[in-house]
Amino acid sequence: MKDVKIQNEATLELSQEDMKSYGYEVVDAIVEHFVTQNDKLPVVSGSRSEMEKLFLEEAPEEPTDPKQVLNFVLDKVMTKSNIVSHPKSYSFVPGPSNYISAMADSLTAGFNIFSGGWQASPAAAEMEIVTMNWLLKMFGFPQKKGGGIFTSGGSMANLTGLVTARTVKCGDDFSKAIIYLSDQAHSSNIKAIRILGFKKEQIRIIPTDNEFKFSLNKLKNAIAKDRLEGLQPFCLIATAGTTNTGTIDPLSDLAKICKKEDIWFHIDGAYGGFAILSEDGKPLLKGIEKADSLTIDPHKWFYQPYEIGCLLVKRHKWLSGAFTERPEYLRDIEGNTSEINFYDHGIELTRRFRALKFYMSIKTFGLTEFRKAITYNIKLAEATESLLRKSPNWEVISPATLAVVNFRYNPIGNQLSEKELDELNQYISHEVVNSKEALLVTTVLNKQVVLRMCLINPRTTMDDIIDTMNLCEKFAKEKMTV
Ligand SMILES: *Cc1c(COP(=O)(O)O)cnc(C)c1O
Repeated sequence: MKDVKIQNEATLELSQEDMKSYGYEVVDAIVEHFVTQNDKLPVVSGSRSEMEKLFLEEAPEEPTDPKQVLNFVLDKVMTKSNIVSHPKSYSFVPGPSNYISAMADSLTAGFNIFSGGWQASPAAAEMEIVTMNWLLKMFGFPQKKGGGIFTSGGSMANLTGLVTARTVKCGDDFSKAIIYLSDQAHSSNIKAIRILGFKKEQIRIIPTDNEFKFSLNKLKNAIAKDRLEGLQPFCLIATAGTTNTGTIDPLSDLAKICKKEDIWFHIDGAYGGFAILSEDGKPLLKGIEKADSLTIDPHKWFYQPYEIGCLLVKRHKWLSGAFTERPEYLRDIEGNTSEINFYDHGIELTRRFRALKFYMSIKTFGLTEFRKAITYNIKLAEATESLLRKSPNWEVISPATLAVVNFRYNPIGNQLSEKELDELNQYISHEVVNSKEALLVTTVLNKQVVLRMCLINPRTTMDDIIDTMNLCEKFAKEKMTV
């Protein structure tokens, strides 16, 4: 061979010293954020034009000093997001992360571990197997035959679950397949159904009863009617902890219907599933173990940083049956069946090592610590409900359920119409968010505009809540005197 010399000067590297001092500054910034976040304001705002003024530029050809870029990011980027782990961040589903898992994510990125196949990283694959076993046990799924996979979040877990359901129940022809979910089911399910190519006519949205639960009677009617029309009822999506109200569908009853009708039983426990770790939550989730597939979301009520969701299934074979392809370029890395290639169990080939943060945080804190935090969250919502009930100004619209409570300002003896009450509560939320003191937005229940608190932050105290209620009352009174 002819001698070819080629020299590369572009290795994208820093010196060891520079890497260290850069890294220490990153860690310092993260620690600083953890210890000062409670004292910051949880809400930020920024228009498109303000953001463009800060960031819009052509991709630079020339380098910039690393610390200069870092400082710019710390100063201008990290300060312009809502603090979802702030004690007064009550809306949507907060993200009260933990430091150990944040560091674990730094390790997985630092070592850039490929968590797709066994051969590439046997330890990462085994760790996903081990943590999946912990989860299977937690949720009463069969240990040996069951399986699961970490995903980026609940949306991807629901999508993965529905692909599996469709493959097992319908094979290639799903033209007559019908899928059932309630009007309180999370929008990611509809998104997944649409991504999968089901037509609108194949989706049955079943109205909920006055407690926001799946109406069994209406469901049975719908299934019976579809059967009469020669259609194929194939999948039902129940929710264990709706995002709006924390409501749990009647899981055991739905499981019976699914069994009798040979329908796949998917439970979306992305919000509420982890309540099973609490003695207060566990009985409410009875029946969750009957699911064929179950979505849970550790980056919600298991205090993990984004992104980590999870799908559990009764039979791990269902996943490999739905997702295994055998391209020639992966030929050399196919192992035996006990050595799982997780790319064969889900949608992604290249996957980050999500199991690590889950593993390290449980090893470090112990499950008991998580149980205590979740129990505290449930009790905090109950205490908030009693506080509201004792006040002449507030009305509870949906009682504390799995750490969610919905309420509205409706003082005794007022003469306001429903429309005016809606406007008043919208106004309260608007002013609170504008003040940046708390993130408290509205939702709509039974056509009423209500305020909603999701209290899954273990660092939220009763004082935080009293503070926020006082702030709400201040704005309400201002509005009522004009
Ligand atoms: C949040 C949520 C999802 C979506 O999960 P992501 O992690 O945001 O993708 C799905 N279902 C329910 C019930 C949820 O609360």
